[in-house]
Amino acid sequence: MSIEKTRPPHGGHGDQGITVLLRRMHDAVALEASAQQRLDHLTKAIASHVVADVCSIYLRRPDDDLELYSTEGLNREAVHKTRLKWGEGLTGLVAESHRPLVTDDAPHHPAFAYRPETGEEALHSFLGVPLIRSGKTLGVLVVQNKAARKYSDDEVEAAQAVATLLAEISASGELLSREETAVVGEMLHRPERLKGIAIVSGIASGRAVYLRPPAPKHNVFSSDVAGEAARLEEGLNNLRASVDAMIAENASLSGVSREVLETYRLFAYDRSWKDRLRAAVFSGLTAESAVEQVQNENRARMMQARDPYLRERLHDLDDLAHRLLRFLSGEKNGGQRALYQETILVAQQMGPAELLEYDRDVLKGLVLGEVSATSHVAIVARALKIPMVTGLGEAINRCEEGDEVIVDGDAGEIHVRPTSDVIETYRSKRELQSERQAAFASEKDLPSVTKDGVNVTIMMNAGLAFDMPHLKETGAQGVGLFRTELQFLVGSQLPSVSSQEMLYREVLDLADGLPVIFRTADIGGDKTASYMDHGKELNPAMGWRGLRMAVDRPGLIRPQLRALLAAAANRTLYIMFPMVTLAEEIDDARALLDREIERAERQNKALPNDIKIGAMIETPAAAWRVGQIAEKVDFLSVGGNDLAQFYFAADRDCERVQRRFDPMNPGFLSFLRDCAVKAAKTEAPLSYCGEQASDPVMAAALLGLGITNFSMPATAVGPFRRMTRSLNAGHISQWFDEILPQPRESIREEFTAFLRVNSVVVE
Ligand code: PEP
Ligand code: MG
Repeated sequence: MSIEKTRPPHGGHGDQGITVLLRRMHDAVALEASAQQRLDHLTKAIASHVVADVCSIYLRRPDDDLELYSTEGLNREAVHKTRLKWGEGLTGLVAESHRPLVTDDAPHHPAFAYRPETGEEALHSFLGVPLIRSGKTLGVLVVQNKAARKYSDDEVEAAQAVATLLAEISASGELLSREETAVVGEMLHRPERLKGIAIVSGIASGRAVYLRPPAPKHNVFSSDVAGEAARLEEGLNNLRASVDAMIAENASLSGVSREVLETYRLFAYDRSWKDRLRAAVFSGLTAESAVEQVQNENRARMMQARDPYLRERLHDLDDLAHRLLRFLSGEKNGGQRALYQETILVAQQMGPAELLEYDRDVLKGLVLGEVSATSHVAIVARALKIPMVTGLGEAINRCEEGDEVIVDGDAGEIHVRPTSDVIETYRSKRELQSERQAAFASEKDLPSVTKDGVNVTIMMNAGLAFDMPHLKETGAQGVGLFRTELQFLVGSQLPSVSSQEMLYREVLDLADGLPVIFRTADIGGDKTASYMDHGKELNPAMGWRGLRMAVDRPGLIRPQLRALLAAAANRTLYIMFPMVTLAEEIDDARALLDREIERAERQNKALPNDIKIGAMIETPAAAWRVGQIAEKVDFLSVGGNDLAQFYFAADRDCERVQRRFDPMNPGFLSFLRDCAVKAAKTEAPLSYCGEQASDPVMAAALLGLGITNFSMPATAVGPFRRMTRSLNAGHISQWFDEILPQPRESIREEFTAFLRVNSVVVE
């Protein structure tokens, strides 16, 4: 078989092949004939274009069987007779796995299923690609050859491009009969329950807004080539004008940010991109289908690029293509999406700053492709109490723009287009939840003391003034971690000293005398501010961030310290430094603070009554030498999110590796215990402010390790207090003496059983 190669993303050699095939497909679909005849012509067009002995199209039926709908090369009597179960035979395997399958020895493949009526025994080579639309397999395109040969990656890619188009046509009503199209529509729109991973608890419902263009509801082919070409031209003009306007609005940007925008503009004006879009339109595609076709080719090419910079550029190209599609659909503004009154945002990825840009009154829930519980977007979502589910992978595409969606952030699943039964179930679940919240609220003034008399301090984490009312609602004893960087991430420029001071003063006022520990801006890692030039870092989490950046760039931290000193005038100020690695770094940070104190004194400004300095213990180096760090500060706080990331060498933003390492690993717990023991020998109290404290089983373990001060998301405070009051920390500590030295990946199961036997309330 030889399928013409797709072109490189921009430029590259002329490519008549795919254009010719598209035109043939167009002609087949436009035929005045029965649906079956049109489909047969299409199969023929593909088969004659590729040097294949057999080309077949299988379509999915409502019972999920795959039925042979058309073939060129197999016995024609088999059409509408041969059926394969989902997962049966090579074709069924392609459907089930949603992936292409290639083999040069089909008869000996373990999944091979022989169907005598097709006469396919003499065929050795097999290439099957799924017809995917909105994340669902609608059928399979199969190409076979007698000779044993290996299909190349390019051939597989090209077959995928044809399959994408076939899936589009199947759903568009341009190919199948009206009844068949209705069956496909039914398949695409049936209710679904998708299992993922719970990241932020709570239940939300609303309509899906996809942070990618919706699956297009437009025709694939058009007979009015001139009209489509004119629409394309107009769309491109609008797109370019919008990119120019965006660059003009951000004229003050410099460095990398500027470069990124300029590259973006270059792509928008790229001549060969336009030429390829026009060629696709002239082959008979609608302008929208042309954009998708060209973008599919780009994606296939760029996904293979080794150069991470090039791969990154794929986002630019995707974004441009999406904007162009929106302009083509008549939207005036190709940028920001309009939201529903109750919106569920669905996206493959999202950063914390991006999330903060959305209107919180209408944003009810989040469904993200792959993020971990300790990623910053998750932390922000938790702070905003926006239920969130992740880990859906490709299944994320199964919900379409405007679909009704329920996000269950407790069970870690979403319901797309739920039935009335499911809606009703969730309505009562929500009621139960509010009862549970009410029960926790009624316990908020109960002392947090363990059964064996250990006093536990429970504070909460915050990052926005918006969080502060949770103090009273939960009965938290203060803010143990105020992530000041959130203010830095929202705007398009560094916040002014006065706006920082205003926020800190407001927060202190709202805390009403309870302590607030302000962590200086921990920018870097996944928390990049658009106006900061971070340079190119391969490992940003271990790069220039936190205290490292602060001491190198006093221009960032000194105004912040100035704002903190002013806001806390005549009160106690707690300042905490993030990402401390060596004790000596504290000296540098203190020196900057001293300079700000002197400055305030010179200007006769009122100062705080007392200033307490803290260090975050979030690198193994700091945990190992916690005693030395303690000598230089007033208090310590373990940032378990980062500490676990560095202990396991597992990116906290990568769900795949996060799932591999449970913080309830006895090695990590021993490491934490060692750190707590070392800290206990110093004057500086140690607390724990990582997200792990919101996992009740892990939180119970932390109490057993001897940690007694905590700061956690507001939602975790109630369950944590209840758990604390039901356990005996001494018993856990003894049990740990025995169990922690033993080799285990995780002690979660045995520890959960231990807690259950001892009637500890973990829910
Ligand atoms: C941590 O690392 O545990 C922490 C609390 O800081 P952040 O999550 O903001 O990095
Ligand atoms: Mg951290």
